[in-house]
Amino acid sequence: MKIIMLGAPGAGKGTQAAKLAEKYQIPHISTGDIFRANIKQQTELGKKAKSYMDQGLLVPDELVVDLVVDRLRAEDCKNGYILDGFPRTIPQAQSLDRALDEDGTKIDYAIDIEVPDENIVNRMSGRRTCPDCGATYHMVHMPTKVEGICDVCGKEIVLRDDDQPETVQKRLDVYHEQTSPLIEYYQAKKVLKEIDGTKEIEEIFQSLVEMMQ
Ligand code: AMP
Repeated sequence: MKIIMLGAPGAGKGTQAAKLAEKYQIPHISTGDIFRANIKQQTELGKKAKSYMDQGLLVPDELVVDLVVDRLRAEDCKNGYILDGFPRTIPQAQSLDRALDEDGTKIDYAIDIEVPDENIVNRMSGRRTCPDCGATYHMVHMPTKVEGICDVCGKEIVLRDDDQPETVQKRLDVYHEQTSPLIEYYQAKKVLKEIDGTKEIEEIFQSLVEMMQ
């Protein structure tokens, strides 16, 4: 099963992608996580990506596309994958389609998790991330077992630089301008599924699983 998660930053793509990946035993590929890992390791790619990410801007397509296409051709992706945060522009989607065509395969579902902007801004202020393993939490909706401490690796969780309120508004503007046209793009390909992202995490997950049966 090859799935793309669409939706604004903070809509819950990562949370649902992680749950789907576990249920279907396929890799969860988050371009944001790949960039953050590169920033942590201070790679050349990380250095380039950071300057864009800190401003709430998209990393240029040429730094993203080959990276993702190579990843999708890895052995563990042969039964499918969940793309979280890619594609984010029409040219990225076109490049992905070209690569899939070459490989004789296609996307099964593009899932748009819909959440109004005003909810997003509230949500993001409560989002916390583990700087070490990348796990995400929400202070109200998905708290850690021990306050402030990552359940997975025990490190102190933080508010990500790009989740700061002023950056969130910029990311939303970028989403509406550059990413939301992908909804029509995948609708035209008849793979779009729309889901109400304001519901509880479990309820959304159940609807997704039912939708894919
Ligand atoms: P995310 O964790 O998916 O919200 O991504 C965090 C940041 O990484 C975004 O705000 C972008 O700066 C960058 N990023 C992630 N995925 C992409 C992509 N497909 N294209 C361009 N930039 C991306």
